[in-house]
Amino acid sequence: MKLHPEEIEHLDKQIVWHPFTQMQDYLREQNLIIERGEGCYLIDIYGKKYIDGVSSLWVNIHGHGHPKLKASLKDQIDRLCHATLLGQSTLPATLFAKKLLGFVPENLTKVFFSDNGATSVEIALKMAYQYFRNLEDKNSSFKKRRRFVNLANAYHGDTLGSVSVGGIELFHAVFKDLIFEPLTIQNFSIEQAEQIFKQQGEEIVACVVEPMIQGAAGMRLMPPNFLSFLRKLCDRYGVFLICDEVATGFGRTGKMFAIEHEGIKPDFLCLAKGITGGYLPLAATLTTESVFQAFCADYRDFKTFFHGHSYTGNPLACAAGLANLEIFEEEQVLTHLQPKIKFLTKGLIKFQKHPHVKEVRQLGFMVGIELDSYPIEQKMGHQVVLAARKRGIIIRPLGNTLVLMPPLAIDLPTLQILVQGVYDAMDEVT
Ligand SMILES: *Cc1c(COP(=O)(O)O)cnc(C)c1O
Repeated sequence: MKLHPEEIEHLDKQIVWHPFTQMQDYLREQNLIIERGEGCYLIDIYGKKYIDGVSSLWVNIHGHGHPKLKASLKDQIDRLCHATLLGQSTLPATLFAKKLLGFVPENLTKVFFSDNGATSVEIALKMAYQYFRNLEDKNSSFKKRRRFVNLANAYHGDTLGSVSVGGIELFHAVFKDLIFEPLTIQNFSIEQAEQIFKQQGEEIVACVVEPMIQGAAGMRLMPPNFLSFLRKLCDRYGVFLICDEVATGFGRTGKMFAIEHEGIKPDFLCLAKGITGGYLPLAATLTTESVFQAFCADYRDFKTFFHGHSYTGNPLACAAGLANLEIFEEEQVLTHLQPKIKFLTKGLIKFQKHPHVKEVRQLGFMVGIELDSYPIEQKMGHQVVLAARKRGIIIRPLGNTLVLMPPLAIDLPTLQILVQGVYDAMDEVT
């Protein structure tokens, strides 16, 4: 069946329900249907090229169609497309887990695969919780440990467990009756965090954070030393620290992982988005030997971690994950990234001076440009997106905050076009 572009657009509007999209608006507007990708560009069904300004929602690292990633996938397709990890393994899963552990703090020794960021956090929550259930017969003080601590404005994905530790009112309010209540630290408050731990430290399983920068909250930066403060607090009260690096991992913040900015070691590290260079869905929850040991027992003790997904650790995705890490090494991606970050910082100065920009926030290649507080029904962020699209740029805002998150592989001239194009789009609309 060969369809004309208009027919494809019509078909999409007829039958595809898009995520995080008010479909009533979508059905009224021109839709954008991507057919191909080349480097940092996406190409639609009419052949029009766009800069992929948010890395296809924060996942792409080395650009689209990278020869090594493509070759590794083609090679893996000929061998095996899928086999389960339940009770057995695959060659790519084993090799990728080994490679991945070489990039993280040495206290993390175990890799539990899943297939998206929300589940990687869900798994960390369940593992941390079950750790205390598994050990509470031996250590009765563990019986009380049933609560989680989170940060206001957190985002950890859209499954109910991840929503429970999330804190973005707009996404989460409607599900309030279905979720569990965490203890929430507001405004990165050290005093409040200390108070929560002092009063309820022995009831807490884990503290969940997006290290250094809260992405979906609009690129909100943690104050310096707050992360290391939380690490110390967790240590003092025997509480796990879960670091959700789904957005910040794989070079996004200028270092391989955001925890490196403060040299801290989490008890759980949640990875997804960039883990395959943005080519296939894959996620991993990394944890320590001592967590792992709490699940090892005679089968009849029922200490097994009863959690898994059909496509957990898919071999194609793991092959891409392996190629992704090899590219980081072979192309010295992080070294080449540093001047690009500086260039981007310079390019953002003129946004700061714009009369309708409230604040510009940046950590590495994660940028939030917060506009004035326009009323929500004006959909100002969305207006800028449409104006940018006319200029051959794809971005997606978070409310009134424009997001720039280009692939790490972007070159300086393209980065310049992206920054200027977004500026012009914003200037036109505001
Ligand atoms: C995107 C994101 C998630 C959810 O990942 P999905 O793959 O979309 O489920 C979780 N945590 C953070 C910090 C994220 O940015």
